[in-house]
Amino acid sequence: MSNNYPQATESRARELAENYNAILSKVDKLNPSVRLVAVSKFKPSSDIMALYSIGVRHFGENYVQELVAKSQELPKDICWHFIGALQSGKAKDLSNKVANLYAVETVDSLKKCKQLNNARARNDGEVINVYLQVNTSGEEQKSGFTSEEDMQETIEYLTNDPESTKLKFQGLMTIGSFAESTSGEENHDFKKLQEFKEKLDKKYDLDLHLSMGMSNDFEQAIKQGSTSVRVGSLIFGARPKKET
Ligand SMILES: *Cc1c(COP(=O)(O)O)cnc(C)c1O
Repeated sequence: MSNNYPQATESRARELAENYNAILSKVDKLNPSVRLVAVSKFKPSSDIMALYSIGVRHFGENYVQELVAKSQELPKDICWHFIGALQSGKAKDLSNKVANLYAVETVDSLKKCKQLNNARARNDGEVINVYLQVNTSGEEQKSGFTSEEDMQETIEYLTNDPESTKLKFQGLMTIGSFAESTSGEENHDFKKLQEFKEKLDKKYDLDLHLSMGMSNDFEQAIKQGSTSVRVGSLIFGARPKKET
């Protein structure tokens, strides 16, 4: 491997590998087909390289500018997941500037789908996997669709519109409420997402993935049907407190 990539110290690299492998073995024990996405927001590219060097390829980022910068300096076979709040003006930048963008997990409008698709179509980029975000907790500060009726025209666009050549409708994503994530019991937000999946699978003949579960609650999420967990602080350590 080229040595031009940013490198972590040996002790940091060892710590990251241990943290990652500890989470991965918990994931595997519950369901080995679940994907573990390492959420690297606010963490340096050298941290990402440390995990890359042990074979990790799926990383999640929350900020368009940060993702664009990291994607430009890091290997092109990384599969980037955008998991942050998506402003419609920024969707175009993601499509245009992150060639190896694997998924956008926070799509909450038809307009953003069209922006992602059309920018990608213009430069003939790779297909982007789309997760529609669902606001399962009903909290005002959370984004996402709130009903199946709400999602209908977006799903029609993703599954049926000849224009949407660069998007694949891969699944549903949610961020549960803090109270649900710490209750230690069945999580009602995750249950709601699973119910959305069942209805939509049937109605549109799909088999949607579910992106749910973070450091606090990834094991519970897997028990409730998650196929992709997004884990940050348990792998990389605490972040400065500031985001949503
Ligand atoms: C930051 C973030 C994560 C990771 O959170 P941790 O609690 O650090 O594991 C997962 N999903 C989303 C949408 C996030 O913004």
